[in-house]
Amino acid sequence: MENTFDSSEECALRMDREDPLARFRDQFYIPEGIIYMDGNSLGLLSKDAESVVNRVLNEWKQLVIRGWLEAQQPWFYFAERLGAMASQFVGASPNEVIATGTTTINIHSLVSTFYQPADMRTRIIADELNFPTDIYALRSQVMLKNLDPAKHLILVQSSDGRTLHEDTIAKQMDERVVLALLPSVLYRSGQLLDIPYLTRKAHEHGIIIGFDCSHSVGAIPHYLDDWDVDFAMWCSYKYMNGGPGAPAFLYINRRHFERMPMLTGWFGYVKNKQFDMLIDFEHEKSAGGWQISSPSILSSAALEGSLSLLLDAGIKRIRVKSLKMTSYLMFLIDKMLSHEPYNFRIGTPSEDHRRGGHVAIEHKEAWRICEALKTASVIPDFRLPDILRFAPVALYNTYHELWQIVHLLKDIIDHKKYEQFSPTRKEIS
Ligand SMILES: *Cc1c(COP(=O)(O)O)cnc(C)c1O
Repeated sequence: MENTFDSSEECALRMDREDPLARFRDQFYIPEGIIYMDGNSLGLLSKDAESVVNRVLNEWKQLVIRGWLEAQQPWFYFAERLGAMASQFVGASPNEVIATGTTTINIHSLVSTFYQPADMRTRIIADELNFPTDIYALRSQVMLKNLDPAKHLILVQSSDGRTLHEDTIAKQMDERVVLALLPSVLYRSGQLLDIPYLTRKAHEHGIIIGFDCSHSVGAIPHYLDDWDVDFAMWCSYKYMNGGPGAPAFLYINRRHFERMPMLTGWFGYVKNKQFDMLIDFEHEKSAGGWQISSPSILSSAALEGSLSLLLDAGIKRIRVKSLKMTSYLMFLIDKMLSHEPYNFRIGTPSEDHRRGGHVAIEHKEAWRICEALKTASVIPDFRLPDILRFAPVALYNTYHELWQIVHLLKDIIDHKKYEQFSPTRKEIS
């Protein structure tokens, strides 16, 4: 559908009035007077998440140990239950997804299963634009096999520092490669990679392929089974609104259930025999087999609430609104702020099918402009070297907020308000 925007305030207000997801904003705690644009780093607390946390606190208070089996959502099955909920919007079967660990731990756990270098096949393909923790984990996985990451971890280069060409990645795929791990959406530019194409190419060469979907789950529908992806992982504190440090998820295609988890722990044991406490390890033949430790129940509670909200809204409707919001923001920036003296530049692909849930705006004074925006009660974030990221989240942001932000940016440049801030960055930007 073609969007017909104009730069009037009335256009923004009209889109808010006509927004089928508008009612969800009231389900969230939005800090008073703040325009929150950082949902791709830490999503907001919903009333639904809060109420499940309160429920579980009460269960702990009253049931204590019996909560493992007798809580409303028995804690022993909490991770499986969350996995089944999340499977509905990543296009997987319930037993292919589990809430467990953290993103980086899940990378280690899945890559250790799939990275079995032999003879000629020793390489891992990743890319130089991925979130650094993914690269750190891959490098140590290569070293664990006594191989040199400089030779065996191939980081596909970007030609413009923002985006990756799928064909450049595919060109690295040959019989020397064991596995590829790529991001679904690049955390800086917001580019969405062509996951089905890359998966097809990898499989043509007998390569196992996984995706880190931290920047896409909750914002974009996924069809992991249909795309035939081998494995995936993602965090749940960004677009899934699970709260700081919430359990992450992993997906493992059912054709790999028999493979051996290599970072084993007792929660990966065959579920109905876990408490037999046998010394020989036998893994559950589902995503649950890749669990390691006792699930973090209090954080899982928040996730139950936020997942029910996402399911209620529907991931397809979320994507429609998210795309409309990001294209509206890019339209306003382009129309009002791309020329002298503003000189903002959009670093995110303009085609809908190549864009995730946020927009990257580049400016040589990005850091100080970010500080000036915060003073004006807008919370975006800054990424090196010169990027401001704005994530208009379908469940709680409005078109009018985007209209306001663009006018605030204009005002910051018109009156050189950024000049009053120090050019030195803080620890967490
Ligand atoms: C957010 C994010 C992570 C976070 O890793 P944690 O282990 O959850 O701290 C990892 N990878 C990508 C691509 C991310 O976007």
